[in-house]
Amino acid sequence: MDLDDLRLTTAHALVAEAWGERLPSADGPSTPYLQALIDGLCELSLKDPLTGLHNRRYFDAVIESEIDRVARTGEAALLLMIDIDHFKQVNDTHGHLVGDAVLKEVARAIRSCMRPMDTVARYGGEEFAVILPACQFSFGNRVADRVREAVQAIPIETMSEQSLQVTISIGGAYAIQWIRSTPSVWTERADDQLYQAKAGGRNRTCIDEPRDSTVTAEEKNMLLAPLSLSSGWGDLMPGQTFSNGSSH
Ligand code: GH3
Ligand code: MG
Ligand code: MG
Repeated sequence: MDLDDLRLTTAHALVAEAWGERLPSADGPSTPYLQALIDGLCELSLKDPLTGLHNRRYFDAVIESEIDRVARTGEAALLLMIDIDHFKQVNDTHGHLVGDAVLKEVARAIRSCMRPMDTVARYGGEEFAVILPACQFSFGNRVADRVREAVQAIPIETMSEQSLQVTISIGGAYAIQWIRSTPSVWTERADDQLYQAKAGGRNRTCIDEPRDSTVTAEEKNMLLAPLSLSSGWGDLMPGQTFSNGSSH
C-alpha cells in the first residue's frame, strides 16, 4: 500500500496532537502506523475534547450494553445525571473561559469520585452522566453526595480576587432489575430526579428508590434460560413485574 495515495494529513495531525510519541513514525512499516492512526481516531471520536471525559456517543453505547447486562444478571446499576447549578450566571459574570475552566474542574472532580469501572461522560453542555455498574442500593446517595461535596470544595480561579465556588444537582435512577428497559426510559427517570433536585433548591441529590423486585429465585432461574428474543421478555416495560405482568 502506498501511503501517498491516502489523504492522511488531517488524521495524522489529529492523532499526533493527542498521542505525541505514541504514534509510530509514518516513515516506518505501514501496517502499525495505519492501525495506530485508526485506533487514535476511534479514541478521539469517543472523547469530549474540552474535559477529556467520554462523550455522548460513548455513553449511548455503554448504556445499551449495561441495560443488557442488568436484564441478564439482575445486578444493581445506577445512572446519575449531574447538572451544574446556575452555570449561565458563571459565564455571564466571569466569561466563557472561566466557564470552560469550571467544566474541566467539575469533570475532574466527578471522575475522581468514581471507580475505574464507572463510565463518566459529558452528556451535553454543562451536564454529565455517570453509569455505575454493580452499585448497591444503599450506596447511591453516598456516592452522589461525595461528588457534590467534592465539586463544592473546588476553588475556581477568576480574574477577580475571590475564587469562585460552584454546586451541582444530581438526579439518579437504578436500572430496573431483570427487565430489558431502554436507554430513553432509564435516562428519563434519572432526568425526572434531576428536575426534582433543581426544583427542591439545587445543590442536592434525588435518587429514584429502587422498586421492589417481585421476581422469586425460581423465576430468576427461569428468566436466565429463555433469553432468546422469542421469549417475549424483551417486550416488558419498566414497572411491569414478571410474576403477573401488572404495574407497580
Ligand atoms: P440551572 O441551575 O437550572 O441548571 O441553570 P443553568 O444556568 O446552569 O442552566 P442553563 O441551561 O440556563 O444554562 C446553561 C449554560 O451552559 C448556557 C450555555 O451557554 C452554557 N454552556 C454550555 N456548554 C458550554 C461550554 O462548553 N462552555 C461554556 N463556557 N459554557 C457552556
Ligand atoms: Mg445547569
Ligand atoms: Mg443543563
